[in-house]
Amino acid sequence: MYHAMTSLGFASESPYQGPIKLEGDPKGASVLVLGAGLAGMTAALELRNAGYKVQILEFNNRPGGRNWTLRGGDSFTELGGFTQTCDFESGLYINPGPWRIPYHHRALLDYCRRLGVSLEPFIQLNYNALIHASRAFGGAPQRIRAIRADFQGQVSELLAKVTQQGRLDEAVTREDQEILLQALRSWGALDRDYRYKANLISAQFRGYARAPGGGLDALPLPGEPLALSDILKSRVWRYLLNFANYNFQTTMFQPVGGMDMIGKAFAREVGDLIRYNCKVTRIQQNDRGVTVSYVDTASPAAVRQAQADWCICTIPLSILSQLPVDVSAAVKSAIDAVPYAGSVKIGLQFKRRFWEEDEAIYGGISYTDLPIRQIAYPNTGFNRSGRGVLLGAYIFDGANAYEFTAMTPAERVARAIEFGAMIHPQYAAEYENGIAVAWHRVPFALGCSGDWSEEARITHYRNLCQIDGRIALAGEHASALPAWQEGAILSSLDAITRLHDRVMRT
Ligand SMILES: Cc1cc2nc3c(=O)[nH]c(=O)nc-3n(C[C@H](O)[C@H](O)[C@H](O)COP(=O)(O)OP(=O)(O)OC[C@H]3O[C@@H](n4cnc5c(N)ncnc54)[C@H](O)[C@@H]3O)c2cc1C
Repeated sequence: MYHAMTSLGFASESPYQGPIKLEGDPKGASVLVLGAGLAGMTAALELRNAGYKVQILEFNNRPGGRNWTLRGGDSFTELGGFTQTCDFESGLYINPGPWRIPYHHRALLDYCRRLGVSLEPFIQLNYNALIHASRAFGGAPQRIRAIRADFQGQVSELLAKVTQQGRLDEAVTREDQEILLQALRSWGALDRDYRYKANLISAQFRGYARAPGGGLDALPLPGEPLALSDILKSRVWRYLLNFANYNFQTTMFQPVGGMDMIGKAFAREVGDLIRYNCKVTRIQQNDRGVTVSYVDTASPAAVRQAQADWCICTIPLSILSQLPVDVSAAVKSAIDAVPYAGSVKIGLQFKRRFWEEDEAIYGGISYTDLPIRQIAYPNTGFNRSGRGVLLGAYIFDGANAYEFTAMTPAERVARAIEFGAMIHPQYAAEYENGIAVAWHRVPFALGCSGDWSEEARITHYRNLCQIDGRIALAGEHASALPAWQEGAILSSLDAITRLHDRVMRT
């Protein structure tokens, strides 16, 4: 059925084949899971269901790991000692880590369904959000709709021109050229003469200078397209990739109430297995089992130990590479081979939802070439009066991420307001408070996600994923979907399937 649907185009391939089945009796075998992120809790849930004795050691005092939401009253301390307390009004939140789920992340969506996590749309593309280039269009932000229509329209006009000049005669048959011209006219909003101009045809794509109304002044007026040369030189076309890329195609989702609803839902199933505030400091193994040393984060002087027959370790490699771990040289080299990308997210609370009231931007993301890169609008609570929280910066990789990570949290917030005000001047009057998470300084992750190079993948990936004696590694770093929760879950399902297989055979 599935294959028939796929060949008809109704289903797409996903490595997730539905709920895992670990058949056979593990006869009381025990597993120590390190880390209560999504990889760790997936392993714990499925292994317990299969009959294993499971225990989880977790550094934080909450489940979820990078699956994390900050609300009013939450506080956290980053490396370097800065403690921030979130002052958002009750009901408002920011997801400093994961914030969106693609429709093809079938494993994550399946767990959300099974664990009762309600989803709502995450608006990846809002045509009325903005694209801003600081040195183009007089610094004025443009609507995504206008950039997209004007770029598409003028490229269509050029292609129509060369087609009519016979320059495509070798590549395209005469008959197809006729069809191509028809397609370009409708796809590019061209007029009868294959021109993209200020008229009511292009206005249907790019919007109006005066929108259609009622009564005496009802008739619409078109706006003037942006010049192709300005669009090309400003490089704003590169932002259009954010909607074309497979990972960002609609439909995308977010959990109702915050991303951590997923971590909390897992914890409703396996919370009784988690020992919080436990910082793993050493992992040893021999023929008979695994011994993990850890300290209580509140009183780190006393080292404690936990033992089990097997271990699933989901501690990020950025941290694991700094711990003594009894694994083969090949696995140790793999653990050491993956640097972690930097990322900074900044949440800002404003007195009112001015982006909706003044600019009709309901959800979605605006893009800029300023260091803050993105401003994202809440995808819930539309058209409500009162306060709102924006994602005031989403900086990933590169010099800007390092620069913002090096600042104090207060400086990061101040810079986000300064840059954001160039796009939304309302910032100055409406800003109330903010919080900034720089992932290289987050003690439980030390980075955003594993940043695999092609060479490192070739040399180390298979070694990293191998079961080494009694220890198997899992997590987003052990997947081909780094920086996605789906990668964490798929890697975990793969590791426990192979571990169970080994237990059944020994
Ligand atoms: C800025 C950002 C944006 C992202 N955006 C998205 C997105 O939009 N969609 C998406 O699906 N994914 C996104 N991701 C990726 C996603 O968050 C991760 O892929 C996923 O959450 C990783 O899960 P994990 O279980 O592998 O690791 P983690 O969640 O990191 O779990 C590891 C656990 O180990 C614990 N731990 C660490 N050290 C120790 C220790 N010494 N002892 C004991 N426990 C320890 C940690 O506290 C943590 O709970 C984003 C991540 C970031 C940072």
